[in-house]
Amino acid sequence: MVTGDAAYIKKINRSIIIREIVKEGMISRADLSKVTALTRATISAQVADLLEEGLIVETQLEYNFVGRKPIMLSLNGQAGYALGIDLDFEQISFTLSNLLGQPISSTIIEIKTNDYSEVLKILIEQINKFKAEYMDSRYGIVGIVIAIHGLVSIDEIIHYVPRFNWHGIYLKKDLEEEIGIKIYLENNANLSSFAQRVFFHHETNNLLCATLYSGIGLGMMMNYEFFRGHDGFAGEAGHMIIMPGGKQCNCGNKGCWEKYASESSIFEYLSEKRNIKNLTYEQIQRWLEEGDEEVTELMEHFIYYLSIGLNNMINMYNPDVLVLESELLRMYPDSLNKIRENLNSSISHYRELLISPIGKKSCVLGACALAIKHFLNVPMLNLSLVEQNQNNTNAII
Ligand SMILES: [Zn+2]
Repeated sequence: MVTGDAAYIKKINRSIIIREIVKEGMISRADLSKVTALTRATISAQVADLLEEGLIVETQLEYNFVGRKPIMLSLNGQAGYALGIDLDFEQISFTLSNLLGQPISSTIIEIKTNDYSEVLKILIEQINKFKAEYMDSRYGIVGIVIAIHGLVSIDEIIHYVPRFNWHGIYLKKDLEEEIGIKIYLENNANLSSFAQRVFFHHETNNLLCATLYSGIGLGMMMNYEFFRGHDGFAGEAGHMIIMPGGKQCNCGNKGCWEKYASESSIFEYLSEKRNIKNLTYEQIQRWLEEGDEEVTELMEHFIYYLSIGLNNMINMYNPDVLVLESELLRMYPDSLNKIRENLNSSISHYRELLISPIGKKSCVLGACALAIKHFLNVPMLNLSLVEQNQNNTNAII
């Protein structure tokens, strides 16, 4: 039907136009017409709609070398908000960002239970608070992404969360029925890798991010997509065996990488050895500053075993960017150079190895960014955590 075709084409054009505005950060109508090859009339009509809807805003530039001051179009960051949730063991972090990915408000709720129905109740309560607070904005909360510290299947069913002992949980369905906002579930290491790609490494098409906290997870961003494997469970690098017949792991094998190179392996050892219940990063830092020989030796072993697994990852994926998420590495002097020195095989190649500058927040910020990407329906986002001035690009595909 003619009307159906026209409506469909209009929808496609709209998506192309939004994509270009997000990509450029700021763009004039004339340049939009050039880059999209759509007519000036089509651009004008679509832009008028988007302005009317409040999704974009006009800005008149102050300086222009040739004649008239151009009117630029950009995404309206305040038109709606994204909610990122990090569903970690013992605490749930909520961060709300604007449509440019900049965090507006954060809440952390300590939880004392791993009972699914109780956790679900807490999630519903908190989400409803955010929903009520931001319902007056043009689009309200545009989407919610929840980080799961475990296996999430391709159809977003929680297959297994070790620390909660959850199997086959339909959190997405349960929440969407209650909340009425689109919910997405994603593995926490994937979201950390997404944050690194969206906020810091705009040019790369091959980024790995290893999270080294309670276990080891590997998030992999390849050509704008997560590398997920057949079921969605790829990246369980912590269960790569690096020590045949080594320490017993909960997965059933012995000698898994995370028994030697996750932060929890250090915390567990020191807690038991020194009989301290709630060991903190600050305490470990104090010991290191005091020159505690045992703790220093533990850190050296941690770096050694970490390097062994990283060597294997590098040979497997030949990464462009490899990011390490670890507070212990951040606090231990010269840790990055020590790792680099261990990665001296003539075969393994990577371009950039670094420790994440944002630490544990990366997961929840990646969750916000992913909700924005789904809402705008663009292939990739380039955002900045620092508010940019108007001449700088805020978001590029
Ligand atoms: Zn294991």
